[in-house]
Amino acid sequence: MARKDRAKLSQDNYRRIEFWKDIKEEQWEDWRWHIKNRITKLDELKSIIQLTQEEEDGIKFSKGRLAMAITPYWASLIDPEKPYCPIRRQCVPLINESHISPNDMLDPCGEDEDSPVPGLVHRYPDRVLLIVTEQCALYCRHCTRRRIVGDKDHSISSENLQKAYDYIKSNKKIRDVLISGGDPLMFEDEVLDGILKNISAITHVEFLRIGTRIPVTLPQRITEDLIKVLKKYNPIWMSIHFNHAKEITKRVKRVCDMLADSGIPLGSQTVLLKGINDRPFIMKKLMHELLKIRVRPYYIYQCDPVRGTSHLRTTISNGINIMEKLRGHTSGYCVPTYVIDGPGGGGKIPVSPNYIVGYSNGTYTLRNYEGKQFIYKEEQEQLQPQHEDEPITTKH
Ligand code: SF4
Repeated sequence: MARKDRAKLSQDNYRRIEFWKDIKEEQWEDWRWHIKNRITKLDELKSIIQLTQEEEDGIKFSKGRLAMAITPYWASLIDPEKPYCPIRRQCVPLINESHISPNDMLDPCGEDEDSPVPGLVHRYPDRVLLIVTEQCALYCRHCTRRRIVGDKDHSISSENLQKAYDYIKSNKKIRDVLISGGDPLMFEDEVLDGILKNISAITHVEFLRIGTRIPVTLPQRITEDLIKVLKKYNPIWMSIHFNHAKEITKRVKRVCDMLADSGIPLGSQTVLLKGINDRPFIMKKLMHELLKIRVRPYYIYQCDPVRGTSHLRTTISNGINIMEKLRGHTSGYCVPTYVIDGPGGGGKIPVSPNYIVGYSNGTYTLRNYEGKQFIYKEEQEQLQPQHEDEPITTKH
């Protein structure tokens, strides 16, 4: 490897792994090279990190289920000696995945129930989720969609895509389309361009969203060409799945800069994971680092009760405690909404500490983040019932 290349890699804080010591920077910067060279076998991973027995058994167990796939980029962030490294815990299966809790569900968010067309989930009146692929750059061990991702590389057929376009066209209330997967950025630019073009051509769709983890697991995928495609469909929002401050490398910062500079608003989605980010100081650090790279913390999700993930789930009271330690203790921009996806298809239900400690005859007793109490007396005005499309006015 040329000296310049080595300098570049070390500048980005990668651990130089013996396995890939001879690759050129052009290869390292090529997202297709990372996909082709993903670590999927026990022996490959064993040659770069010291595996525990739980991990070895977990990798064997995961075959044919949510199989292991780790990009070389992500592997370079793993601490080879610490089994509790948060980067490692998110990608290396443990044998605990073979334990099925009585609370576990195959499709905890009830997406299949709310699917009028294959690949399309219509739960809320004005928006839909379009699952365009079952492929991801890396398979997260906590994945809610593990029933569909990871065991085969499969994307939505053009026939089903057309059915989804037709469904959106015929439902004039749909103003927001979230394109997700799997990871939609796994598509080549031309394919993604075609999907974005078809959906944005539907006149009542006001904006598009892309749900992705790729800027974190494979930042090399965010190329100038991809940005050109995305820019054509402004307003387009991007929700990026971040779980730990260790994921925010200089390389990730560069791609978030590229996306933000091109006018794409960025939000984060974080899954609360036991042993990974379930401590208030860890979550606060993540939120601070996100603001520094212009990503607005959007949601913290309680980990869904998906099959084989009970070892990654923490309690709701722990999640509420984390929110308690964020609200008021740091900038409001750093405080996302903590939600639980109602098991079976209830949608996102916000959960938060209770700041109303009493109410009587229009008088609220509130507490602030320090526990001090304050009285708020509301005006006794009656709201006049209105048609849902009219602005609410008060009666005089
Ligand atoms: S990137 Fe998202 S869809 Fe893919 S494995 Fe991770 S959580 Fe699941």
